[in-house]
Amino acid sequence: MTKRPILIHPDPRLKKVCDPVPDISDGLRALADDMLETMYDAPGIGLAAPQVGVLSRLIVLDCVKEEGATPQPMAMFNPEVVAASDELTSYEEGCLSIPEQYAEVTRPADVSVRWIDRDGNERQQDFGGLWATCVQHEIDHLNGKLFIDYLKPMRRQMITRKMVKLKREKARA
Ligand SMILES: [Zn+2]
Repeated sequence: MTKRPILIHPDPRLKKVCDPVPDISDGLRALADDMLETMYDAPGIGLAAPQVGVLSRLIVLDCVKEEGATPQPMAMFNPEVVAASDELTSYEEGCLSIPEQYAEVTRPADVSVRWIDRDGNERQQDFGGLWATCVQHEIDHLNGKLFIDYLKPMRRQMITRKMVKLKREKARA
């Protein structure tokens, strides 16, 4: 497994609609493993392939945060929300591509997601709580959508300016 660099917003690759994965190859399984390692190392609870510069519909997540609890790494190929609750919930979201910026985003509280797992099997599962928020955030990435796109333009522009500055500082370092 190899840690991969995470793209920082603004980056045109974070605004692209990603391509469906045709079938699950060893290369894609290795990419999922790399993404999980990158996510755990960050640390984060979710990561989408475009965040490491790969424009394919693949996300990884593990929302188990309690110390000492068994990790639950998940890799989802071609994930899609097939049903969402009318009930909404707000959560203060962050993103590994927008470091140290957080904002309340309102989304359906529960979602049913269908995807292909690493063995090529179709799966469907209901998610609630943090898992529901996280899986929706990651699927948004596959459609070129960031959590700041839910914010008012002023707030979004302010965060984007901070990220431009951060990238400039990093490039100089
Ligand atoms: Zn994100």
